[in-house]
Amino acid sequence: MLQTLSVRVVPRTACEESELRRYVAQQLAIDARTIKDLRIRRRSIDARQRQVMVNLTVDVYINETAPALDFPPIAYPDVSQARPVIVVGAGPGGLFAALRLIELGLRPIVLERGKDVHERRKDIAAISRHHTINSESNYSFGEGGAGAFSDGKLYTRSKKRGNVERILQVFCQHGASTNILVDAHPHIGTDRLPRVIESMRKQIITSGGEVHFQTRVDALLQQTGKICGVRTQNGREWEGPVILATGHSARDVYRYLYHSGIRVEAKGIAVGVRLEHPSFLIDSIQYHSRQGRGRWLPAAEYSYVAQSEGRGVYSFCMCPGGFVVPAASGPEQVVVNGMSPSNRGSAWSNSGMVVETRPEDLDGELHSFMVEAMADEAFRASHSDFDESSNPLRLMYFQEALERACWLQGGRSQMAPAQRMADFVNRRLSFDLPKSSYSPGLVSSPLHFWLPDFVSRRLRDGFNQFGRRSRGFLTNEAIIIGVETRTSSPVRIVRHPEALCHPDWVGLYPCGEGAGYAGGIVSAAIDGERCADAVAAWYAQ
Ligand SMILES: Cc1cc2nc3c(=O)[nH]c(=O)nc-3n(C[C@H](O)[C@H](O)[C@H](O)COP(=O)(O)OP(=O)(O)OC[C@H]3O[C@@H](n4cnc5c(N)ncnc54)[C@H](O)[C@@H]3O)c2cc1C
Repeated sequence: MLQTLSVRVVPRTACEESELRRYVAQQLAIDARTIKDLRIRRRSIDARQRQVMVNLTVDVYINETAPALDFPPIAYPDVSQARPVIVVGAGPGGLFAALRLIELGLRPIVLERGKDVHERRKDIAAISRHHTINSESNYSFGEGGAGAFSDGKLYTRSKKRGNVERILQVFCQHGASTNILVDAHPHIGTDRLPRVIESMRKQIITSGGEVHFQTRVDALLQQTGKICGVRTQNGREWEGPVILATGHSARDVYRYLYHSGIRVEAKGIAVGVRLEHPSFLIDSIQYHSRQGRGRWLPAAEYSYVAQSEGRGVYSFCMCPGGFVVPAASGPEQVVVNGMSPSNRGSAWSNSGMVVETRPEDLDGELHSFMVEAMADEAFRASHSDFDESSNPLRLMYFQEALERACWLQGGRSQMAPAQRMADFVNRRLSFDLPKSSYSPGLVSSPLHFWLPDFVSRRLRDGFNQFGRRSRGFLTNEAIIIGVETRTSSPVRIVRHPEALCHPDWVGLYPCGEGAGYAGGIVSAAIDGERCADAVAAWYAQ
């Protein structure tokens, strides 16, 4: 017999199966020995009160065993003779599009500029060790896309639970822990993601699809009103409808589209810094305990939002027990981001702290920052069309200006400029910096002075508000590290709301985060699947 029960237990009971079994038996007034299996359906932590509790929904199998797998695996047919679809980019958008195409009986040909997920590790290691950035293989480019060396957080604001569950099940089918189906805030961890991604690639190839690494798409093959394929950097042409899932760091793609007359539009972004605290401090604040998280609780998360002078200031992509990483994808840039391993066991917890910016801000307060950036001849040479107010790439230029300023402040290497949090708020240079997880190294720098005032003023205000909400959060034990600019795409590639293809170009399906239709792994994956469905519908016509 199966009984489903909602319980609220202390963390230890939630973690120790024997304790939970005893507790559940008591609640159901049955003998614990009759419980053959316990399966947790949902798990969330409630840290609002001094005693932290865990809410569980549990399936209790009484005198019967639980079935092996909770969901039917997806069947992937042989598509080796099927019609081709070109998928540009092997990030979550591209990979989920490819798998869905196979399900629908189409043959994906995945073209990825970077290396496979294992080779990619070496280039990522070289960023920290030698401060060298391979422009084709880094934290943004390569198999798995920006999602590969990330926290692997899999929660999203998407309201369509069915879609989200499907994505999580596909991850599980390729080796992710089934805990992600249970946790309110699921995550995989950077140590486990590569194996999952590799399994997806193997599935694509086994089913008759193709995956080509170090194959950068440089041009779209155009006929009147139609995109009928792509050309890669070695001149090879591939024919078929194109799902363009190149992510928000492929700035060459945005430039190519704009200069080829393929309509794109400007979109707001958020920029700021990475904030890093000792994880013990965050655990103590969030779990209301001087002992930190203790043995039974995971590294604590937080989420803050405030309004400051008409713009949102908020925490973004929080990585409890994680690392701050050098996420530049080209020369003369310093960009930071965050990731964490599956055990979230590092001594630090970090998050992006960002301020919303809109395209029109470039003609307002942010204009002076851009004027200063343009005074640099090298920068001006590649951004001379900034002053055309109709140019949809202007916020991308702003990102580039900030990343370059950060590189200059960091000493023209991957060392990142940093400042203690309270010093930033009080506009003081930090005389020294605490230990940090950022492995290329930090340079003490007055971020309050050289970040655009538009951003630093609002960050200061936001930090003060967050500090008032959580005592101990605004502290000099924490540091801010510059700059966080890759929170979302600065450009939207327009597409038809239902057919999902470009309104002016049949056969072109802008997809995922880079196209401006997703923000994060799960939403990019959902969008990948939607684009695959749209191509199949078009083929069916
Ligand atoms: C360090 C880090 C941590 C993150 N942590 C999380 C997290 O925990 N949770 C979360 O939800 N999100 C996280 N994100 C964001 C998340 O990774 C992205 O939202 C997601 O990967 C977007 O998916 P995508 O497929 O649209 O694009 P991407 O993942 O950016 O993939 C685009 C792919 O296209 C390839 N490409 C680009 N141009 C070309 C070309 N011309 N030809 C061929 N290939 C090309 C790139 O190499 C890349 O592999 C993180 C990002 C970073 C950088």
